[in-house]
Amino acid sequence: MKREVYLDNNATTRMADEVYEAMMPCLQKFYGNPSSVHALGREAASRLEKARGQVAQLLDCCSEEIYFTSTASESNNWAIGGVLSTAKKNHVITSRVEHPSVQGPMNFWEKQGFRVTRLGVNEKGLLDLDELEKALSSQTALVSLMYANNETGVLFPIEKIGDLVKKSGALFHVDAVQVVGKIPLSLKNSSIDLLSFSGHKFHGPKGIGGLFLRQDTRLNSMIRGGHQEFGRRAGTEALPQIVGLGAAASLAQRRMLRYAEVGELRDDFERSVLEEIPQSLRVGHEKNRLATTTHLSFAKIEGAVLLHSLSKAGIYVSSGAACSSGSLDPSPTLMAMGLDPEYLSGALRFSLSLDTTKEDMEYAKNHLFALVKKFRLLGEIC
Ligand code: PLP
Repeated sequence: MKREVYLDNNATTRMADEVYEAMMPCLQKFYGNPSSVHALGREAASRLEKARGQVAQLLDCCSEEIYFTSTASESNNWAIGGVLSTAKKNHVITSRVEHPSVQGPMNFWEKQGFRVTRLGVNEKGLLDLDELEKALSSQTALVSLMYANNETGVLFPIEKIGDLVKKSGALFHVDAVQVVGKIPLSLKNSSIDLLSFSGHKFHGPKGIGGLFLRQDTRLNSMIRGGHQEFGRRAGTEALPQIVGLGAAASLAQRRMLRYAEVGELRDDFERSVLEEIPQSLRVGHEKNRLATTTHLSFAKIEGAVLLHSLSKAGIYVSSGAACSSGSLDPSPTLMAMGLDPEYLSGALRFSLSLDTTKEDMEYAKNHLFALVKKFRLLGEIC
């Protein structure tokens, strides 16, 4: 029987029922502007601040350090541009496997005269800390690195990196979009100065992101002309989305331990695929990665064709970052990892969530086995 199996959770997740219920009253009943001084406005302001507190609790930081934005793409652009436009130093460090919303601003600021060092990764997707240490200097204004890679799930050692960055006197920005809500974070006691996140990656709404900004960190405003978001991002707040993000943060805190079960589902699936499909491989480090992600590649298979056939069977996966899907160019992340060219075009990302079941993975596995076999046979005949 055909079913729908959604395995594209690194692109976006389904909104949780609790989030939906928290948002609904803010669309029509509590529609006041949080800046208005009457009762309806005060009600909206109190819901806004409650949500800020819920996010701060998830990240273990102060409420005053949480700024709401429209997306993590905005947060990343703001963090990088906000620091560099006020910096007195002219060097920045990032990596070759960052999300386009980090790479784009890095390219822009490079054209404005900043020197950008882009660190490489090894074949497992891991960063070389010696290379980072060598690149850091008294001229480094900012280091911007991701916590978990959106394509492979591989984790960078953020605490160790933070210690090195702090010694150099640079600011440290972390794109934690794939991690927030899935791995416990304590920003209070960390070396991170700025951290980006996004509601729709952990069962919250789309159109809402956030930036953690450590108190007393110099950052130019994102939007001028209003007192909202502590005077740094003007404009009437998107209350329903913000309340949804707050609810998603509280829910994530309560459910975080369940990611261990998701990891078991992922491991069972991955083990059977690697054992039973010849010429298949895992892209990225086996242990050092998110429980939700497996990136697999199949030699002699066109990933885009396999993706469409899986989709016809109701199984939704991705052939790289969602933002670059539709393009047949090999993924810059897989290129940076030096993936064997034979495996470059047959790579697919399967990303699970707390909604994923054993039956889903069984269904996906059976269809994947049958399709890879069919396409390889067809390839031999043609
Ligand atoms: N950073 C990473 C690592 C991501 O995976 C994504 C989205 O896929 C983003 C940033 C951008 O997030 P948003 O969709 O909220 O702009």
